[in-house]
Amino acid sequence: MMPPACFCSRPVWIRHPSPWSTRTLKQIAQRISQPKSVNSAAEQAMHVKKLADSHSRKLDNLAKGMPILDGTEVLDLIIEYVETKDEDAFCTVHLINEEATHLICKASSAALSTLKASLSNLEIEDFPNSLAIAAQQGIRAVVEDLRCHADWQHHHARTALAGLIAVWIEPIRASTGKVIGTFSIFRSSSAGPPSDNDLDRLQNASNLARIALERKSLQEELLLAASVYQNSSEAIMITDQKDYVVAVNPAFTRITGYPEYEVIGKPQRHFKQNRAGGASYKKIMQILRADGHWQGEIWSRHKNGAELAVWLTLNSIPDEIGDVYRHICLFSDITEKKRSEELIWKQANYDALTLLPNRRLFFDRLQLEISKSKRTGKTLVLMMIDLDGFKAVNDQLGHAAGDHLLKETAKRLRGCVREGDTVARLGGDEFILCIPQIGDIACIERIARSINQILARSIGLADKFLRVSGSIGIAEYPKDADNMDDLLKHADQAMYASKKLGRNRYSRFTSSIHEESEQQQQLINCLRYALDARQFKVHFQPIVDLATDRIIKAEALLRWTHPLMGKINPAVFIPIAEEIGLIGEIGDWVFQQAVQYAKRWGQCSSTRIQISINISPIQLLDGGSHNTWTEFLQKDTSSAANLAIEITEGLLLNEHREVTEKLMRFRELGIQIALDDFGTGYSSLSYLMKFKADYIKIDRSFIEGLPTDPSCIALCEAIIAMSHRLGLKVIAEGVETKAQRDQLRDIGCDYAQGYLFSKPVPAEEMEQLLLAQSVLASANQTAKGT
Ligand code: C2E
Ligand code: MG
Ligand code: MG
Repeated sequence: MMPPACFCSRPVWIRHPSPWSTRTLKQIAQRISQPKSVNSAAEQAMHVKKLADSHSRKLDNLAKGMPILDGTEVLDLIIEYVETKDEDAFCTVHLINEEATHLICKASSAALSTLKASLSNLEIEDFPNSLAIAAQQGIRAVVEDLRCHADWQHHHARTALAGLIAVWIEPIRASTGKVIGTFSIFRSSSAGPPSDNDLDRLQNASNLARIALERKSLQEELLLAASVYQNSSEAIMITDQKDYVVAVNPAFTRITGYPEYEVIGKPQRHFKQNRAGGASYKKIMQILRADGHWQGEIWSRHKNGAELAVWLTLNSIPDEIGDVYRHICLFSDITEKKRSEELIWKQANYDALTLLPNRRLFFDRLQLEISKSKRTGKTLVLMMIDLDGFKAVNDQLGHAAGDHLLKETAKRLRGCVREGDTVARLGGDEFILCIPQIGDIACIERIARSINQILARSIGLADKFLRVSGSIGIAEYPKDADNMDDLLKHADQAMYASKKLGRNRYSRFTSSIHEESEQQQQLINCLRYALDARQFKVHFQPIVDLATDRIIKAEALLRWTHPLMGKINPAVFIPIAEEIGLIGEIGDWVFQQAVQYAKRWGQCSSTRIQISINISPIQLLDGGSHNTWTEFLQKDTSSAANLAIEITEGLLLNEHREVTEKLMRFRELGIQIALDDFGTGYSSLSYLMKFKADYIKIDRSFIEGLPTDPSCIALCEAIIAMSHRLGLKVIAEGVETKAQRDQLRDIGCDYAQGYLFSKPVPAEEMEQLLLAQSVLASANQTAKGT
């Protein structure tokens, strides 16, 4: 296998004696070169001259950069040119393929047709003959005698047939120095080393091939570039060093609406102004001058005036001494993409109903304002605003009214603040205000007062007027909290304090609000597992028939004893359970307990009583308890007769048809209904007519005044008289003294409940009370009988 040791940077001479006779070779050579021969010597000379002239002209054109023929034709031209200069020369041009694995024959002398097949595709690694080695190592190779050279032993027969004796191979190097192929001159004359002239000719031919090949690929590249320029979907604008337009492509016109003739030679005005927040074009040009390139979004304008968002890539092209020669501006229209991005951004950051920033955007802005406040040392105020009575509007008048109310609230709140303040909707009926850079804290109370006043103004909706108010909580940074989460939490706690204080007011955060709220939170956490932890018990309080002094009813009252906090008042935990959605679950448990004891006591005539269960309107609104209870009562029809339901006469009860309907359903199943705490709510007479209750429970606050307070007496008398006229029985709550009992009896009250008779007691004690009563009754009866 080749290569010989002498294949290095010097030319390689490979000599072998020729076993062929010169005559035979000449004959063969003449035969092979037949197409070149012509009739007479004069004609031959003329022919050779013509050929040489034509070749010179074509090669001259090539040198001058005139359009050239297809790459292979140019190589043929070079081969013909070399062959006209030397009758014994037969040339081939091989190029290395892209993978650098093969030498591909790109052009060859017509006389070499017998060799063509074996030389057309040479695998460089597996066929390392002189040709491949010249290509691989970039060294000129000279084989002085092919007939006996080992490299060519596979081709001996063919080279002999072609009359070839020697071959000189010159690597073709690209301008970069990389070997791209070989130019070979096969010789048909006698063997021997080539002269300096021969070698010059070989080298020139290789150089010419290189020029032709490179010009061809350059021409292809230019054609490709021109076609890209013309057909690009991206706009291309080229400007000079002073930013005057030099050229634009068709996509430029398509995107901007400006035809070529309106912009060429004029100053570039398409990217003058950017939108707020982005870099100005002036700034971009500064970056371009410094870095040589810039890329980003920029706003432009279409010829028709429409805004145009483009993704722009700017590059400057320097001249030989490094000064800016041209700017290339490449841009595509991203207006639609920007619009949809903006829409998505808006949807993600703004509340669709009120168009106010939403929670997410508000928190971003708040964080920024807190950082600013940290730098400037100025106070930042957060106001949490919750609408009072919004739920009622939504439930009673429908969601359209609720939406109208929220929109109007947003408008009013926006009108109460300065330009740099942020009003946002956190969700539902909860709004929030960030008021940064406050110098005078007194102004905050002024703002809060005016918000309260403005929100309390009635809102017109069709033929109705809606009236709500706002509970406001105020927290200051850095006084009340040193971070965003605490600031939000403290404003929220202050807002709850406003709610607790009676709504339609503002409260500034204080440490006592914080403590109270923390306790509340602790209570909430404990309440969540109180049922599972069996911390609840039901106590029973007797209700006495004032005519007989006998216990005929009992109210089931829930008791919660926490292992650490001790007994917790139902007036404290029931509203929390309502708020956090636990009331249904707890109420169902109370119901089960009441049913169980009603059944137990009902089975014995001496203990039979009616048990009344308190139900929160929320239990009826969310539907859960109603379904569970009615399902049970449908199956266990005997229980209903021993049960009553107490519902507080309040706003929800008053307004909700749904609640009334559900209560009536209970009534159909045989359960009696009592209106609890009567006199504390609206006590609407028409409502009493509409709502078919069985009992009215006069609130303890009216009984307290008995027997001395004339207005309490008058009220109790009126309630009793009115109830009786409507067919309702009356129970007096909170009877503590005999005087109260006597007076109630005097004015016709039917039943009484209070500490005078018994405090609420555990079931076992209640049972004892009932048994004792039964014993007493039978003793009385026996006494009467005797
Ligand atoms: P309520 O339904 O009006 O119950 C009567 C309340 O008055 C009970 O308070 C009872 O202990 C108290 N009371 C009775 N007689 C007297 C008296 O002579 N003097 C005084 N000072 N108080 C008396 P309690 O047990 O603290 O219950 C408070 C409220 O909690 C109840 O008022 C009721 O609205 C609610 N509640 C209690 N248990 C439940 C329950 O299981 N479910 C629901 N939804 N609410 C309940
Ligand atoms: Mg009650
Ligand atoms: Mg009551």
